[in-house]
Amino acid sequence: MRGLSKRVQALKPSSTVAMNAKALELRRQGVDVIALTAGEPDFDTPEHIKEAAWRALKEGKTKYTPPAGIPELREALARKFARENGLSYTPDQITVGVGGKGVLYNLFQAILDPGDEVILIAPYWVSYAAQVELAGGVPVVVKTEAEAGFVPDPEAVAAAVTPRTKALVVNSPNNPTGAVYPEEVLRALAELAQKHDFYLVSDEIYEHLIYEGTHFSPGRVAPEHTITVNGVAKTYAMTGWRLGYAAGPKDVIQAMTKIQGQSVTHPTSFVQWAVIEALESEKSLEFIRMAREAFDRRRRLVVEGLRALGLKTPEPKGAFYVMPDVTPIHEDELKAGEILLERARVAVVPGTDFKAPGHVRMSYATSEENLKEALRRIGELLG
Ligand code: PMP
Ligand code: GLU
Repeated sequence: MRGLSKRVQALKPSSTVAMNAKALELRRQGVDVIALTAGEPDFDTPEHIKEAAWRALKEGKTKYTPPAGIPELREALARKFARENGLSYTPDQITVGVGGKGVLYNLFQAILDPGDEVILIAPYWVSYAAQVELAGGVPVVVKTEAEAGFVPDPEAVAAAVTPRTKALVVNSPNNPTGAVYPEEVLRALAELAQKHDFYLVSDEIYEHLIYEGTHFSPGRVAPEHTITVNGVAKTYAMTGWRLGYAAGPKDVIQAMTKIQGQSVTHPTSFVQWAVIEALESEKSLEFIRMAREAFDRRRRLVVEGLRALGLKTPEPKGAFYVMPDVTPIHEDELKAGEILLERARVAVVPGTDFKAPGHVRMSYATSEENLKEALRRIGELLG
């Protein structure tokens, strides 16, 4: 009998992807919309990385690779983890995948049985809950407060642990809040994973975009329990290249690779070669510095601008998102998002699927000119 699976019927489309697609479509139709929806840097991929991909193509690096990725890339990643994160992983503890998103998908498929619980710290990135559910798992939500800078209280996380807890996901710097968790909080969460013997999934994809505070990898505290997930999309403006990676206990990494070997096989061969250049070239450091400074200027512009308009706006310390309280526009954030789009022609992502009621997410990964115009339009709406 024809018909879709119950699994896919229960699945919601990604609201971040959908809202961005909607904004781009309106622009294509000639509507003058400012899109603050995109979770991607507005910069182009640096030239030296594109050249490395071109070189790989010309050298015929166009064939299948091992499902965990080429050994040269996994060796470069092992050096990266040691150099930047103080983590010591061997290449056989590392696997690459189709974006950070693809890696997380493989991971949840590899560790979850039906009914297993995964603690998510809200507001959280929409795809964690969807991917956990696709693997038969049950998201358990621990809330954080704007007044606490959206940093979790480790005791509140501990209170959510049950005998069915299989994993806890932490994402610092955070999408959508911009929170950067202090080292002591990350240490406490890693110790919790050790004490109750569950996995700590540490999504560090925004590690280089920090404006206040420093990055700490909890895998340093609990190496046997942590799976460190990352990708090149945000750091090197390589969203469309689709390459992510993970490191952790060998059995988990091998299981993730086994799933990949039966699904997409591996990420694109010449992209893997270009990523080695991204990771190891001095030029990348210059690019990261430039991007970080630009995002920091925009961050201050947006936070000050929104506050001046009377919207309560917690200060983000990392990534490139800000989450104002939009209840002065409408108490329902979905409605507030619609009003912003229809009356101010500013596209945002409503907080609903991030579990951030009363808030919307704005990405400031766009030009200062666009941001100023967006603020002007929102001001007009409120005035
Ligand atoms: N983790 C977080 C927190 C993200 O915001 C994103 C997407 N932007 C990803 C993972 C996945 O990124 P990608 O698949 O593009 O590597
Ligand atoms: N992660 C980005 C975002 O949150 C890109 C879209 C997605 O993959 O969710 O907007």
